[in-house]
Amino acid sequence: MERDSGAAAGPSAGEEGEGCAGLWELPVERCERRPECSQCSRPQKVCLCPFLPIHPLKISTCLYIIQHPAEESRVLRTVPLLAACLPPDKCKILVGRRFSEDRYPELAAVCRNPSTLILYPGAEATNLEEVTVMSSSPPVMIIIDGTWSQAKDIFYKNSLFRFPKQVQLKTNISSQYVIRTQPTNNCLSTLECAAVALTIMEKNKSIQETILRPLQALCSFQLQHGAQIHHSKEHLLKNGLYDKPMPKNKRKLRRMELLLNNVKI
Ligand SMILES: [Zn+2]
Repeated sequence: MERDSGAAAGPSAGEEGEGCAGLWELPVERCERRPECSQCSRPQKVCLCPFLPIHPLKISTCLYIIQHPAEESRVLRTVPLLAACLPPDKCKILVGRRFSEDRYPELAAVCRNPSTLILYPGAEATNLEEVTVMSSSPPVMIIIDGTWSQAKDIFYKNSLFRFPKQVQLKTNISSQYVIRTQPTNNCLSTLECAAVALTIMEKNKSIQETILRPLQALCSFQLQHGAQIHHSKEHLLKNGLYDKPMPKNKRKLRRMELLLNNVKI
C-alpha cells in the first residue's frame, strides 16, 4: 500500500501567488536553510525587496550574464539583485565555465551578431562611451560574473567570446560593494558594472541609481550586522591601514608593490 504524504505538503496552495512570490525565477542559494525571499533571494530577515523598483526597469538592452559556477553559491551575490531590477527577458543568466556552440546555440547566435558587445577590460577593449550602436536590433551585452581570475578563464577559454566587440567601462566610480574585498578601488561588482553599462547604453542616469539602491541597502544591512568594511587592498596599503602581516612570498610582495604603484597586474 502506498503511503499518502499529502498531510506534509506544507503551506496551503492558496498562499501562493500573493505578494512577490514566483515573479522572478532567480537561482536559489544553495546550502541555505534559512527561509528565503522568493523575489530577491535574500534571507527573509534581510529581504531587499523594499529597495527594488516596483516595476522592472524599461530598457531595450538585453544582458547575458555568464556566471562562473562558484559565483552562484556565494552568499553575497549581486546578480539576483540585478535580475530583480530588470525584466526577465532582458537579463539572462547562464551558469558555467565552457560554452560551446553546440550546447549553447542561442548564445552562439548572440555572439555572432555583429552588434553584440562583451564587457571585458583590456588593451583590445573600446570604452563603452565611444561605441556607436548602429544596429536597428536591440543591443545585447555580455557580462562575465566571477572573480577576476574566473572571468579571465571564461573570457579566454571560450572562442565564442572572441566574436562580440570587446568594451570596457572608463569610470572613476569606486566600488560601493564594500563587503567583499575588491582587488582595486575601480574594481566593480557585476551589479555595478551592469548599472554603469546600462546607464551608458540607455542614456539614462536614473538606471544607475535604481540598480545601485539595493546594493547600498545590502551593504548597510551587512555593516549593521557586524560585517567589517572591506576597503580594497589598494586603499589599505596607500593609507597605511593594511594590518595583515606582509607576505613572505616574494611574488606576493611584488604584487602588493605593484598594486601600491597602480600598475595593472
Ligand atoms: Zn525580497
